[in-house]
Amino acid sequence: MAQDLTYMALALEQAKKCVPTPTAFCVGAVIVLPNGASGNTTNKDIIISTGYSRELPGNTHAEQCSLDKLTDDTRPQPKSAVLYSTMEPCSERLSGNLPCVDRIIDSGIFTTVKVGVIEPDTFIKNNSSKRKLEEAGIRYVHVSGLENECLEVATLGH
Ligand SMILES: [Zn+2]
Repeated sequence: MAQDLTYMALALEQAKKCVPTPTAFCVGAVIVLPNGASGNTTNKDIIISTGYSRELPGNTHAEQCSLDKLTDDTRPQPKSAVLYSTMEPCSERLSGNLPCVDRIIDSGIFTTVKVGVIEPDTFIKNNSSKRKLEEAGIRYVHVSGLENECLEVATLGH
């Protein structure tokens, strides 16, 4: 869908805000409450949160920041939102922090996760987020068309 590329491009804009570092990726995330979703009566899509790598203090990830920035007012109803991330969510973290895929599942708000590019095996091999999300009943979609841009921004600083 052309819409997917629009939102992935917005996620890419978020990724470009990251301060590059050799030890992590630069990733952007956008949470959308689609037109017609439970709790959305506006007749259009609503962008309810955004995030990028290291936006919040600590070694934070884009998806994590977009979730942590939700408030009581913006938090969507269960199983209603779509997450766009320039890179597939991490399924393991060398730091021992909770992986984003678990945060996404635990939040309970997502129907679908759409990713711009799969995670290169630079830091962690065999990302299992696709399997974990699908086992949790969350659709995993690879949006085609911006892989090169997503990867280029992700590896700035490497
Ligand atoms: Zn992560």
